[in-house]
Amino acid sequence: MSATILDGNAIASEIKSRIRATVSERVAAGGRKPGLAMVLVGQDPASELYVKLKQRDCEEVGFKSVVVRLPVETPQPRVVSVLDELNDDPTIDGILVQLPLPTHIDSNEVIERVAPDKDVDGLHPYNMGRLAARKPLLRSCTPKGVMTLLRHTGVELRGLDATIIGASNDVGRPMTLELLLAGCTVTTAHKFTRNTRGHVERADIVISATGKPGLVKGSWIREGSIVIDVGITRQPDGRLLGDIEFDEAVKRAAWITPVPGGVGPMTRASMLENALFASEVLHA
Ligand code: NAD
Repeated sequence: MSATILDGNAIASEIKSRIRATVSERVAAGGRKPGLAMVLVGQDPASELYVKLKQRDCEEVGFKSVVVRLPVETPQPRVVSVLDELNDDPTIDGILVQLPLPTHIDSNEVIERVAPDKDVDGLHPYNMGRLAARKPLLRSCTPKGVMTLLRHTGVELRGLDATIIGASNDVGRPMTLELLLAGCTVTTAHKFTRNTRGHVERADIVISATGKPGLVKGSWIREGSIVIDVGITRQPDGRLLGDIEFDEAVKRAAWITPVPGGVGPMTRASMLENALFASEVLHA
């Protein structure tokens, strides 16, 4: 048996086409474009690349986008005042603060300064709390993208055993909440977990988000399961590797994501969905 590949590029492209159609209809009817602001502090090349990709996404779907570039030495109060201005700007529906921030800046304070109704990354404690209370509004982008991939399989998720490896605030924890909401029985493994292998071996759904290439052995994967690899680690030769041994896992799983081209494009598409939702529902 060889797994069906969950093609994140293709599914993200369908999502973007739908968003583009909705936006152009709205603009044709005299409405305004959804607006996204990106705040970049410093000149980290990886962050510059992510911002460029997001700008290109905005262009593709017809959003207005603005990038606020601040020098690396910008003091925290200045970053906060930029966020306050964007929070008050009625043409802006979503604010993205590009992480990581320089070390003199307290990332938690910055994340919490973004107005919850403009938090299109879905990282603000308010939005995490809404998800925990089963009343989600703006959902964390990577777990939201993974849920779209899982729904794409057509498999009924309710009652399935899911194992997530990784418990970070941006992926593992909100992923746990999303799967609980979908009716799965969820195990969240992390660096202190004693028997990650055992939890993977009995899972119908395995989602790994650790950034440790090869951590999940292909031989651990249960026959017929759904395997989602969130991990992305760049090798010295430029190759991108996931956490899961793909070549072995693909023989056992029913569905699997590639790296690259699986979860990555879905994260960006989910952020665009969040921005559209913010403009249509939260700022209507
Ligand atoms: P993180 O470093 O914040 O968290 C890593 C998690 O892995 C922690 O909870 C840690 O306890 C767990 N972990 C580490 N070693 C482990 C082990 N041996 N066994 C079990 N658990 C272990 O990282 P993150 O921000 O959650 O990102 C994780 C990976 O996902 C990275 O490779 C990152 O690049 C990638 N990522 C991809 C996307 C995407 O869109 N595809 C989005 C976000 C993150």
